[in-house]
Amino acid sequence: MDIPTPDAPAPAGNAALAARDLRHVWHPCTQMHDHESIPLLPIVRGEGAWLVDAEGHRYLDGISSWWTNLFGHANPRLAAALADQAQRLEHVIFAGFTHEPAIALAEELVRITPPGLSRVFFADNGSAAIEVALKMSFHYWLNRGHGEKTRFIALTGSYHGETLGALSVSDVALYRKTYAPLLLTPILAPAPDAYQGEPGESPAAVAARRLGELRGLLERHAHETCAVIVEPLVQCAGGMRMYHPDYLAGLRRLCDEFEVHFIADEIAVGFGRTGTMFACEQARVAPDFMCLSKGLTGGTLPLSAVLTTEDVYAAFYAEYSAGKAFLHSHSYTGNPLACRVALETLAIFRDEPVLERNRTLAAHLAARLAPLRDHPHVADVRQTGMIAAIELVADRRTRTPWPAAERRGMLVYLHGLRHGAVLRPLGNVVYFMPPYVVDTGEIDHLVDVAMAGIEVAVARRVRRFQ
Ligand SMILES: *Cc1c(COP(=O)(O)O)cnc(C)c1O
Repeated sequence: MDIPTPDAPAPAGNAALAARDLRHVWHPCTQMHDHESIPLLPIVRGEGAWLVDAEGHRYLDGISSWWTNLFGHANPRLAAALADQAQRLEHVIFAGFTHEPAIALAEELVRITPPGLSRVFFADNGSAAIEVALKMSFHYWLNRGHGEKTRFIALTGSYHGETLGALSVSDVALYRKTYAPLLLTPILAPAPDAYQGEPGESPAAVAARRLGELRGLLERHAHETCAVIVEPLVQCAGGMRMYHPDYLAGLRRLCDEFEVHFIADEIAVGFGRTGTMFACEQARVAPDFMCLSKGLTGGTLPLSAVLTTEDVYAAFYAEYSAGKAFLHSHSYTGNPLACRVALETLAIFRDEPVLERNRTLAAHLAARLAPLRDHPHVADVRQTGMIAAIELVADRRTRTPWPAAERRGMLVYLHGLRHGAVLRPLGNVVYFMPPYVVDTGEIDHLVDVAMAGIEVAVARRVRRFQ
């Protein structure tokens, strides 16, 4: 096989930049060989919900650049806050030192998250936040004299990141299978995913049945379990699987009854995505740990935070430390630039009616997607706030998927790029997760491109990728 290695960079244009990229850059979650046939897109700037490539083509960012962007690309407010902070203090060690942006951000996060979460530990990406929550939960029980608690319960189809600890509590085969020999073994509880319910079973009934199964697992395993970790309301990377808020309320009660922690991974669903500021609010529950990242900086810089309770904090607080202190650090913990941009992001939520506007946008999206419910290759159209997903199948009646090698979703992706929209289906689940700054016309554009792309994808005799 020829590995592309052009000798000299050509003048900038999409193809030239892509060729230069392919000499040295290795991209995430990518079989690099695919880029012999699938174009790699050089983006030179962003404007609102749009990305602009090196030849001036515009693409509506229907997936918020991996679910991070809330208020548009190159957002002037966020850029100004960043520039201002960069001229004051770009970074300082966060052990033994502190700064106003981190203090103010912690205050604001405590103010807006569910009651009871009063302590904020910073890290620098989503997976790192999960590592922190897992280690902190384990260490809490150790400090309380329960060193026998070493395991975690996760849901089937869950995704919590790809570092080894986070991957350990994830159940998406694509990411997990290869590295399984390196991982901790979680206890898997069946997800309350409404799509996988029995025919005619309501989402609330699925949640109740799955809670019964979780109770059974806790009866057997609570003594060795630190925490149950879930993505509240929507299991995103697992295929935008959605479930009823009753599950979260029941999970809170079970965690209290069996004395295990409840870790809410709101990395993807936090900051207004599901219709409320945090997804847990829809069940009126507060977890013991809440992990935040992605939208935290409006999609500008990497940053994450783990919020927890006074009870957890107190278990680590001791005059003579003797191993009681929480041991976890990243060089860029609490980075001032990222904290400052996060503060400005939260200020936008205060200054503008973001959630109200999202409700209007979400209703428009739902109305536009409704006709797909009757499509012969659509088994499900589901939506929670500003996340909507279409489950493409070979046969709607039997819900039979296509063989995994038939990457129909890839055809939707390619169609989108040719028609000015970034859609990046998860397998054969086409989804929409746009920045909150889109207008209804831009939603129409996304839906029109997706619908045409779906027709192309279901009609074509497919080439088998990989
Ligand atoms: C993206 C994601 C993570 C991991 O965050 P990274 O910043 O990509 O490491 C963890 N949990 C959920 C639910 C996510 O969507």
